[in-house]
Amino acid sequence: MDQGILVINAGSSSIKFAVFTDGGLPEPKLLFKGQMEGLGSDPSFQVKDATGQKFDERDEWPRGSPLNHAGALRYILGWLEECASDIKIEAAGHRVVHGGLAYDRAVRIDEHVIADLEQLTPLAPLHQPHNLAAIRALAEVAPGLPQVACFDTAFHRTQPRVAQLFALPRALIESGVRRYGFHGLSYEYIAYRLPHYAPEARKVVVAHLGSGASMCALHDGRSIESTMGFTAVDGLPMGTRTGAMDPGVVLYLMQDRGYDAKTIESLLYKESGLLGVSGFSNDMRDLLESGDSHAAEAVELFIYHIGKHLGALVSALEGLDALVFTAGIGENSAPIREQVCRRAAWLGVRINEEANRQGDSRISTTDSPVPIWVIPTNEELMIALHVRDQLPAA
Ligand code: ADP
Repeated sequence: MDQGILVINAGSSSIKFAVFTDGGLPEPKLLFKGQMEGLGSDPSFQVKDATGQKFDERDEWPRGSPLNHAGALRYILGWLEECASDIKIEAAGHRVVHGGLAYDRAVRIDEHVIADLEQLTPLAPLHQPHNLAAIRALAEVAPGLPQVACFDTAFHRTQPRVAQLFALPRALIESGVRRYGFHGLSYEYIAYRLPHYAPEARKVVVAHLGSGASMCALHDGRSIESTMGFTAVDGLPMGTRTGAMDPGVVLYLMQDRGYDAKTIESLLYKESGLLGVSGFSNDMRDLLESGDSHAAEAVELFIYHIGKHLGALVSALEGLDALVFTAGIGENSAPIREQVCRRAAWLGVRINEEANRQGDSRISTTDSPVPIWVIPTNEELMIALHVRDQLPAA
């Protein structure tokens, strides 16, 4: 029987999972990726194989079925026993949004870790409770299965203190109101892969452009600055999030327009960004295809802010040796990459339009002072690597 690692990314109404084999390979190898969606309302289950082809699909739950995280995980483990009976899951890794200041790397989960992570729930109320629910549910469904927490914040703990501080009164700073940074597993994966593409590059900006979008400055493979701060709403405008905005706007909306905290939360996270400005979609593909002037403005705003933050990150790095694009938009949208690179010409970034259009890994001209790379991210593999590191050698 081959040893397997189960990777879990739990949200409020879905559990995404991936299964890797681990036996004696230099790197864990992906077998399946799947998801259980519609928890608590209309559950459905889908699995794809390692090439992305549909492998299985189940829709056997009546509408309104009260399937929760534990039920979903029990189902996923049962499915693995039935459909991948040659794999024995030896451990699980969870994507956990917040590790606070204390967790600067992945950690084997025990009662103390769970208690620590519960304390951090107010810092990430939209995600942390669901990550914890899945951890508890798996402990209930598969007692004794080692579990590892892998944090979106941990990779950024190498940032200089000054990059992590707000100019707030000291008591607030010391109580944890700081810039934590997110998308850390994606940046850690890019830092892990980068030597294969650009072994000489020391000062690198990575643009993780997905429905959540952020950028990170890497110096010798370590995060020194990022565009997301206390929450994942900071930095770039995103699919439905505002990105950085004068906090005076929030005060004004509360004091003069009667917005309450829930309305503001929804505004900042769900109604703004590409969706808010275009008025019709948070999907970059829709905006690029549409001839609508509001869609064009949403795209322009996205590009403008990427350029502005790129300048800031290059200032933090005091130079730029390479620019990397990743995630849904970064990996797939040649027009967005082209416009970002055009605005960055002043930094010595020269795009090769043909290489960009045909989706090459290196999309800069041979004489570009700053090479530009497109590197697909792989947060699941990063989690599987952490799980392997945390397990006692077999
Ligand atoms: P997340 O993991 O944050 O949900 P992804 O990294 O999967 O997001 O990115 C999803 C986004 O990528 C979609 O909202 C879509 O806008 C964008 N995207 C995917 N393919 C393309 C494409 N070919 N052109 C433009 N945008 C794309």
